[in-house]
Amino acid sequence: MPKAKKPKKICILQNKKKGREALDINLKNDTQLDDVIEKYENIAITGHVRPDGDCLGSCLGIKNYINNKFPSKKVTVYLEEIMDRLNFLPGVEEIDHDFNKKAGRKHDLIIVLDASSFDRLGDSEAIFEATESRFSIDHHATNTHFVDNLVLEPESSSTCELVYTMLDPKYVDYNVAMCLYTGMITDSGVFKYSSTSKRTMIVAGELMDRNIPFQTIIDGAFYSKTYEQAKVCAYAIENVKFAFDGKCAYAIVDKNAMEKCGVTPKDMDGTIDELRLIIGVECALLIYQIDENDYKISLRAKDYMEVDKIAVEFGGGGHVRAAGASFDGNLEANLKKILELIGAQIR
Ligand code: 5GP
Ligand code: MN
Repeated sequence: MPKAKKPKKICILQNKKKGREALDINLKNDTQLDDVIEKYENIAITGHVRPDGDCLGSCLGIKNYINNKFPSKKVTVYLEEIMDRLNFLPGVEEIDHDFNKKAGRKHDLIIVLDASSFDRLGDSEAIFEATESRFSIDHHATNTHFVDNLVLEPESSSTCELVYTMLDPKYVDYNVAMCLYTGMITDSGVFKYSSTSKRTMIVAGELMDRNIPFQTIIDGAFYSKTYEQAKVCAYAIENVKFAFDGKCAYAIVDKNAMEKCGVTPKDMDGTIDELRLIIGVECALLIYQIDENDYKISLRAKDYMEVDKIAVEFGGGGHVRAAGASFDGNLEANLKKILELIGAQIR
């Protein structure tokens, strides 16, 4: 007999008509995550390639929460190497970065956070495939629904914000709050991107109630840079090009330039903000080289452009005003295509 197809339980928390104002500020704290965790003993948690603050914060936030509420469960976070400035998060030292040896390692449950498509899992694809029970929480409108049990809320400013609404607040201690607050500030640009809502501020307030050093977190996780990161920002500004009457600023940082600045792809977070902040710029584009034939695209919009649509054309995704993708072919031809797509939206 053919195996019955598992039913999908995709829960899309969205009310398009009312936008972010529709987010429930009463924080009823949905219990489905606890119900899932309760059923399994050996749990894997993972996120996306080049983990950012939201990915890392949601993974470690849930890990610390499970340790508090379900101390007998074994829980392992699998992520790529993280950027130095997020090293202060409680639980970073226990992250398993060593995927290759553990390819295919089986768990009873895998929780996938902040990852919008299968290819975003990178090295943790093998662990994902070996584990039958899967649960995912995400906030990318471009999510491809690759996990059967998915809680998706595109209106949420971060996965961390959404995660908080799914936790039992009694077990959200200082450590959990540190992690979730970090993801909230990095994905909302310290509460300034258009995704920031009244609920964002209420959740942030609840986390501040756990006496977290919020000023230190904001400086450490968002504003501070290593000298090498400052150098690569300077390189991007020095080599910026403008298109469409200065409404688009773009820079290309190749491997050679990255080596000269002393950075690797995980250090590039924040570089594009320098381009976005230039007065008159609606759209910022940063292309950086990951490998000989592998380029990463980052796109940001200020007021009206929908850059996720451009990223999707390259097989990527993200949010309306912040999106990304990659390409492996010819730099010039791809740049031309991206600029054409930008030009079609610029007013
Ligand atoms: P960043 O430009 O900072 O890498 O990413 C901005 C946003 O776009 C993030 O929400 C990130 O998850 C998403 N994003 C970046 N690169 C990709 C990609 O290659 N594929 C998909 N699906 N999303 C991406
Ligand atoms: Mn996110």
